[in-house]
Amino acid sequence: MKSRKLLMIPGPIEFEPKVLQALGAPTASHVAPNFIESFGNCIELMRKVWLTSTGQPFIVSGSGTFAMDMVAANLIEPNDHVLVISTGYFGERFAEISKRYGANVTILAAEIGDIVSLDDIEKALSIKKYKLITITHVDTSTGVLVDPKPIAELAKKYNTLSILDGVCSVAGEEIRQEAWGIDVVLTASQKAVGVPPGLALLVVSQKALGAFKNRKTPVCNYYADFNNWLPIMQAYENRQASYFGTPPVNLIAALEVSLRQIVAEGMENRFLRHQKIATAFREAMLALGLKLLPVYKNLSANTLTAVYFPKNITGSIFLSQVGKNDVILAGGLLPSHKTLYFRVGHMGSVNNNDILATIAAIESALFANKVSFEMGIGLKTALKILNK
Ligand code: PMP
Repeated sequence: MKSRKLLMIPGPIEFEPKVLQALGAPTASHVAPNFIESFGNCIELMRKVWLTSTGQPFIVSGSGTFAMDMVAANLIEPNDHVLVISTGYFGERFAEISKRYGANVTILAAEIGDIVSLDDIEKALSIKKYKLITITHVDTSTGVLVDPKPIAELAKKYNTLSILDGVCSVAGEEIRQEAWGIDVVLTASQKAVGVPPGLALLVVSQKALGAFKNRKTPVCNYYADFNNWLPIMQAYENRQASYFGTPPVNLIAALEVSLRQIVAEGMENRFLRHQKIATAFREAMLALGLKLLPVYKNLSANTLTAVYFPKNITGSIFLSQVGKNDVILAGGLLPSHKTLYFRVGHMGSVNNNDILATIAAIESALFANKVSFEMGIGLKTALKILNK
């Protein structure tokens, strides 16, 4: 396909042909034996991808925001205290959602490109009793990666539920839900999980389900209520027909294909592939003289990279020049810095050729803008890392 452009934004990403074929297959009844089997398989496969044997998966129509909404609707009661660790736009969103359900929200916000220190988190947790703490694993607005493991340990120490927004990390960044003791890990289908947009995916620990069952007030969101969805998930896992809301049959068929591909690659291999490609891309950008949004290299995500435009060029023109080189990138998202940087997604089935094509397209756009740099230095830097 000579006219095909490479989609390198942080979601939706490029999808595997077999996943897309599953989407285009004739739609089954939601109570057909083959669909029930597929749904049950997805539930079992999610545990393998999330690395938990005891968590309860939920697969529901909706985007990542709905997955966040579902957590808040079910685990927050009016006047509960919620601690939001914010590294950008999506941390702020979790605060807003939590307030809708009556929470008293405390936000610990990092400086742009930085993270909140563990000391500050522990200080906050020791002052008052929080029902839950939210962490954005990778904030897609900044490309900052937070290490959720020590934060989940703190949450456990202070008897607080830990919620990980893994929309831009699940199936790309290392997450070991059970070993790390994270209570909820949520995501959406269109990123590293590798399925077109439309599925909210969550895995909820037994401890969090216990907290849900101990609620004193009813869940005030009908569609999100675990009471409606838990029996459905359990029925499908037991390979029985069930109905609450019509499931997105084709998306679930596509999810099974993608989860099988992820499990076949192996989680360790997948984490390493993401790390290698991300390192190659980051180092290429630095070699080209560009600056990253994360203030330290070890805070940079492996699923996307946020890069400042060179000085004196108009970002929108630069991105359209990269687009003319057949690579689609995303602009900035943080309102205060929107026009100052761009974002490149490298997750899911991304391969070495994709990242090299992206670097080449960026080099060509820099050249067109008369930015001074050594032509090919980005590619050379990346190739050295990819060939290690
Ligand atoms: N959290 C994070 C970290 C995200 O990157 C996104 C989407 N970019 C969301 C939440 C919201 O997901 P959605 O757009 O699917 O509603």
